[in-house]
Amino acid sequence: MSTNVNRRWLLASRPTGLVDKSNFQWVEEPVPTIADGQILVKVLYLSCDPTQRGWIARDTYMPAVKLGEVVRSGGLGRVVATKSADYAEGDLVGGLVGWQDYTVLEGGGMFAPAKVPTNVPIPMAMSTFGLTGLTAYFGLLEIGRPKPGDTVLVSGAAGATGSVVGQIARIKGCRVIGIAGGKEKCDWLVNEAKFDAAIDYKSEDVTERVRALAPKGINIYFDNVGGEQLDIALANLAMHARVVICGAISQYNESSTPPGPKNYMNLLVKRSKMEGFLVSDFMPRAGEAIRELSTWVREGKLKDRVDVVEGLENAPAALRRLFTGENKGKQLVKIAD
Ligand code: NAP
Repeated sequence: MSTNVNRRWLLASRPTGLVDKSNFQWVEEPVPTIADGQILVKVLYLSCDPTQRGWIARDTYMPAVKLGEVVRSGGLGRVVATKSADYAEGDLVGGLVGWQDYTVLEGGGMFAPAKVPTNVPIPMAMSTFGLTGLTAYFGLLEIGRPKPGDTVLVSGAAGATGSVVGQIARIKGCRVIGIAGGKEKCDWLVNEAKFDAAIDYKSEDVTERVRALAPKGINIYFDNVGGEQLDIALANLAMHARVVICGAISQYNESSTPPGPKNYMNLLVKRSKMEGFLVSDFMPRAGEAIRELSTWVREGKLKDRVDVVEGLENAPAALRRLFTGENKGKQLVKIAD
């Protein structure tokens, strides 16, 4: 590939149902130039995140990507030119890089490119030490507030966020049950991530299994999925339970607002709380999380699982994998060495 070409995926249409390659348009443009205060970053890896489905469909907690704009995406790259005193050529930075080879970024504000340490493998910097690891850390510890002996149920348990949630809960002395799709993922949860039990929602009766595995109820439900799994968890709460609303991936492809949870009145009966959060609110404390996560990784208590698809041309297919459950751990796209 010539280095003066910037390959990019633009948003061509808003998705209905599953994201599809036809929602995106491939273009090749000159590499952009930078003005004072800006840096030019060669993108190395893209992060695939379920929230991107929302960003390209409608206004959410961020304005929707406009038709014809580059597809918004987190990622990591190397500074190849700089007109900013804060970044040097060669720095590794993470930020909203977009689906493209080169991006222009600038410091200041919430989305300032963050310098990434070079002593950690890039995939791990983007998974356990990246946004999904931080989501798991703050969502579980600050919203779920685990205590030793608690029973913790996690949906989307074999994914980037869920797998870290369950492992931190184990480290904190909890009993952990994961819900995931398929035998391979459930086996990984129990054998590698050391969950106490895993429920395969694609082949098992989740209600029956939750009742059998948590006869005294669930103290913390960490929800990545929403819909029926949230309802089952709500029906099986222990007293003073905490329901952490991290995401609802089972609903993201719906075109109309899905019905609310049927069993929410059990929050009253069980004097329980349900609370949502956004990891971005905790970013000022990222350093403390990364220090503790690094210790657990060094001690062998926390396993990282990444799933890397090669090539910018495969970004649409990689994003789709999150919704078909093909991804095994944090989904990344590697676009350059
Ligand atoms: P991920 O879990 O690595 O990948 C998504 C997984 O969702 C898939 O592997 C699939 O696993 C599962 N899934 C897809 N469709 C499903 C359906 N209809 N029913 C049940 N499970 C389904 O992705 P992630 O990046 O870690 O995100 C997980 C959740 O966290 C998402 O809801 C995301 O929006 C949320 N999130 C929230 C924040 C925040 O700040 N609140 C930050 C990051 C992520 P199976 O094979 O097991 O079905």
